[in-house]
Amino acid sequence: MPAVPTAPPARDRRPIRALPDELISQIAAGEVVERPASVVRELVDNALDAGATQVTVRLQAGGVRRIVVEDDGQGMPPEELPLAFMRHATSKIHSLSDLESVQTMGFRGEALAAINSIADCSILTRAEGHNHAHILDGRTGELQPAARTRGTTVEVKELFFSTPARRKFLKSDATELAHCIEAVRRHALARPEVGFAVWHEGRLVEQWRRCDGPQALTQRIADVLGAEFASQALPVRRLTGGDGTGPTLEVTGLTGTPTASRARADHQYAYVNGRFVRDKVLAHAARSAYEDVLHGQRQPAYVLFLGIDPSRVDVNVHPTKIEVRFRDAREVHQAVRHALEQALAPSRAGAASPAPPVDPELPSPPPPCTDRGPDRQAGLHFEPRETFAPGAFRSGIPVSDLSALWSRPGQDTARAADPTPAAAGGPGPAASLPPGDWPLGRALAQLQGVYILAENTQGLVLVDMHAAHERIVYEQLKAQRGSSSQASLPRQALLLPAPFAATPTELATAQEQAEALAALGLEVTPLSVRTLAVRAVPAALAQGDAVALARGVLADLAALPASTVLERAQDELLASMACHGAVRANRRLSLDEMNALLRQMEATERADQCNHGRPTWRQLTLRELDALFLRGR
Ligand code: ADP
Ligand code: MG
Repeated sequence: MPAVPTAPPARDRRPIRALPDELISQIAAGEVVERPASVVRELVDNALDAGATQVTVRLQAGGVRRIVVEDDGQGMPPEELPLAFMRHATSKIHSLSDLESVQTMGFRGEALAAINSIADCSILTRAEGHNHAHILDGRTGELQPAARTRGTTVEVKELFFSTPARRKFLKSDATELAHCIEAVRRHALARPEVGFAVWHEGRLVEQWRRCDGPQALTQRIADVLGAEFASQALPVRRLTGGDGTGPTLEVTGLTGTPTASRARADHQYAYVNGRFVRDKVLAHAARSAYEDVLHGQRQPAYVLFLGIDPSRVDVNVHPTKIEVRFRDAREVHQAVRHALEQALAPSRAGAASPAPPVDPELPSPPPPCTDRGPDRQAGLHFEPRETFAPGAFRSGIPVSDLSALWSRPGQDTARAADPTPAAAGGPGPAASLPPGDWPLGRALAQLQGVYILAENTQGLVLVDMHAAHERIVYEQLKAQRGSSSQASLPRQALLLPAPFAATPTELATAQEQAEALAALGLEVTPLSVRTLAVRAVPAALAQGDAVALARGVLADLAALPASTVLERAQDELLASMACHGAVRANRRLSLDEMNALLRQMEATERADQCNHGRPTWRQLTLRELDALFLRGR
């Protein structure tokens, strides 16, 4: 066992001493620079503060070996250049009152000093009115004349060379590159008037051209997040105050319809006065605006800009300035929530009106991922019956084919073969019982595309169809994986690979986690620098939406903390796959399909709870029904 560290004995006490400058900067770097992407963010911040109209980022080895950021901004005169690497030296604020109204990205005067303390840096720059450029070596402090047009080039080599412990925490080049691109993307979304380009190992990997005109922002959002998002997203524009009723707050941007919701919160971009922030108040306000139209864990996608008087927000609460503190969080919450609710009004109205008839030719609506909270489970209060334990019915009698539940029109032709759905423990004997004895009863109808109504000897059975199916699929996946956590799920090759436009993170994850994907029965390989193709899926999910499944699993894998041993996350991953593979709400089911689902539930262990621990079905007895109508009193 490692010895528990104890406080040094009193006689070892060391004198108090001021730390050397270099060490102070290295400590500061610990806060500011987590990975290459942090450097990219700081350098692009500086380029934008200098008024650049074009920013070019060049990377090697995911930015670990080399990061270069070039801009066409104001540049720095040679006499000021040495100050740039000095701690707490800045041109952006000169007094406390400046801090209260700061409009620039930077103001702490810390970034270049911190970066210079943990990497080999140089700055090449030429200011307006100077007839040549200068280059400053961060290590030696040597300043020399050089050639360049107006603007600045900062080069950062061998990040963390002096702190190898830090370097060990870095992930693969592909992942670090993805983070660097994400850092530029965050800037790009807010600054359509600036062009951005990212090169990796001499190859152009991302480029967003300068946009002008009234549609500039929409154009940029389309370029960065995809035309699909931009074309269906709803404009957000709401101004409060300004007429003397309170402080001026402006909320603008684009927000996704509920259909564009995602499994992860990876398309949520919030800006306060142009600065990208991670803020709980904003995230919560957005979440609550979507409350009625988005189920459960689904995450809205949005790009939101909050304009607020700088004196009402403190940007100096976090070394990387990614967090802010509002003077009045409630007013901000309300403004954002109302702005989004207003933008979403058409879809909310749609949600409240009776469901339109389901057209089998149309793609299904967004997956609710089962998370229909208990508060949504109708006003009637009744307990699930312990009349049977579904697992007790397991044996080997075939039940109807459930595969139709997964299929969508037009998709089946692309599959290599029709899979035979293998139930978790084989179907139950209930299927061979006369219908009157089926524990979960005989299906009568489907309610609102969400519930199955069935009749059994005791009365009415209500089944949450997505939750129930999800449970069945989950148990199937677990059974197919077998008891060994090392085993892989049986997979099925797709006849035609399913390509999709992938984000850098998805590309990196597919590459890095190929083994984990294989264990989960998935094969996802790159087709080009921007495209991935799904080539195989788990046999149990072969009829589902392969791309949605792959995306979901990639997002899950990317979100796993680096230290997580995959085996430990396996069940969680299978549960998430089951959610993607399970029949969606609003799928019109035939009575046969409903009965098949009920029989499958009877045959599946733990089928009476969904993967989130909520009941999948409830019994309403005749006696309870009688009581509802005050019969026999
Ligand atoms: P901050 O941005 O908080 O002021 P930095 O350490 O990032 O601190 O930069 C220090 C100073 O160097 C800035 O205040 C700015 O005057 C100057 N500087 C840094 N990068 C650039 C650039 N790309 N173009 C012009 N000036 C720059
Ligand atoms: Mg800066």
